[in-house]
Amino acid sequence: MKQTRKTGTLIIGGGPGGRTAYAALHRSGKKDSLLTMNVEPVAVCSLPYGVGRRLIPTGPEDTIVDIANSPRLPADIVQNTIVGDVVDIDPSAKMATVKAAESKEIIEVTYENAIFATGAAPWIPPIEGVLKSSEMPEEITGEVVCVGKQFVPKSLLADGIYVMRTVNDGKRLDKFAEEAKSAVVIGSGAVGLEVAEALSDRGLKVTIVEALPHITSALDEDMAKILETRLKEKGIDVFVNKQAVSYDNGTLTLNDGTKLKASGVVFATGVRADIRLATKAGLKIEKGIVVDKNMRTNVPNIYAIGDAVQIEDTVSGKGILPLIGTLAMRQGLIVALNIAGKPTEHPPATSWGVSALFGLHWGSVGLTEELAKSLGMKAESIVLPVRTREPVMPDSKQGHWKVIFSTESNDSVKKGQILGFQIVLDGDSPLSITERFIDIITRHETVPELINHFYIHSPSHNPPDDPYMGIMFRYGINNFN
Ligand SMILES: Cc1cc2nc3c(=O)[nH]c(=O)nc-3n(C[C@H](O)[C@H](O)[C@H](O)COP(=O)(O)OP(=O)(O)OC[C@H]3O[C@@H](n4cnc5c(N)ncnc54)[C@H](O)[C@@H]3O)c2cc1C
Repeated sequence: MKQTRKTGTLIIGGGPGGRTAYAALHRSGKKDSLLTMNVEPVAVCSLPYGVGRRLIPTGPEDTIVDIANSPRLPADIVQNTIVGDVVDIDPSAKMATVKAAESKEIIEVTYENAIFATGAAPWIPPIEGVLKSSEMPEEITGEVVCVGKQFVPKSLLADGIYVMRTVNDGKRLDKFAEEAKSAVVIGSGAVGLEVAEALSDRGLKVTIVEALPHITSALDEDMAKILETRLKEKGIDVFVNKQAVSYDNGTLTLNDGTKLKASGVVFATGVRADIRLATKAGLKIEKGIVVDKNMRTNVPNIYAIGDAVQIEDTVSGKGILPLIGTLAMRQGLIVALNIAGKPTEHPPATSWGVSALFGLHWGSVGLTEELAKSLGMKAESIVLPVRTREPVMPDSKQGHWKVIFSTESNDSVKKGQILGFQIVLDGDSPLSITERFIDIITRHETVPELINHFYIHSPSHNPPDDPYMGIMFRYGINNFN
């Protein structure tokens, strides 16, 4: 017999977005919610550090979120969580079909509102040898990976092929690191670099393969080179402008014929929004689920948040998948406030991220100069060398800021508007300055408007030269009017 349940809000997906939506609904007085999760909840961002055993000596299992005892989550989340997949949804009847993971029992849930927080799945290029079999099960539940355009169960990945998204991925990689001698990491975004560092810390010989002309597309080439130099100093080989074309039992072949032998290959080649259920529900989809400023989809009573959702990049005006955990959480709050009858709009946002690589801390906000130009914008940049401390301080180290700005007004940007910010600091956190540039960029401020931003100095924290002034001077004092 089918079980039935009734709820005020059905939250589909137990990642950071879904969990935050649950907590925020609860705190807004909407305590009648049901959360569905099909994988163990985890602090995703810490997974590479679990594999590296540097910050988390006991491994990736320490990143599991114990929802029953989390001070951030309401205690009733446990009784209001179904571990399983929402396998179908009928928006006209406001009913979802959930398949419980262990018992395989079917539960029909009727809801007033539904929140799609289905996130994203690792994406792998559809190259020969990455899957054990091309035969797909009739129903795909649990952990998936997107190969080309097709979502497939992760259990179909060929031996020696790894991805990094869930705690099970972390545990697999951790076990691999224990036994393996070498690894190829394909992709050099933050996740690829963090995994490369983790595996190198575990004693593996690591090679990075990147399809683009330089590593880390969130940085321009000049800034990315600083990271590349550090990788090479740490014994990591880097291949750029190369694509993997096939994998066969420990040998990865690249498009120029190079054959790389390794104990395993980690694909850190990006993710795809998990839109499988959204498609069944008839939600509008472009790069991800399309929502309005209140996180409403085109289907009544269905909202969407997090990595599954496309937002408008406030700098370029284009639809993007920002793929940022803290943004997924903020959207969880926004959706909860809207459902609770407190209309709240998504603030203007862009892409941002901060990471660290062998002691080099780097961050990026908004557009790179390369991306701005490829979008047809007239843009230039200022690169400012900065010290991390007063130069006389023994622990003072080198760093660079890069500010990208438009040189011409058009319909969407002003002349001098700051389009992007990048930073690489040796041994120091770039966080506060990067966050400040999130505000500067999302508020469409120009280089001359940096005059409104004050700068604190203390020798043990930073040098006395005001870097905002440095940027304004380099922009040209005569451009102020
Ligand atoms: C290694 C790594 C490091 C990262 N580091 C950072 C960082 O430092 N800072 C940062 O801000 N972000 C970071 N991110 C990005 C961040 O993890 C994501 O932006 C965030 O997880 C998105 O949250 P979400 O809830 O939207 O989606 P997800 O975390 O993807 O969660 C969605 C969940 O929904 C489940 N689901 C899908 N369909 C169904 C269904 N039909 N039924 C039930 N469940 C379903 C999925 O299995 C998944 O568990 C990192 C990501 C990775 C992979």
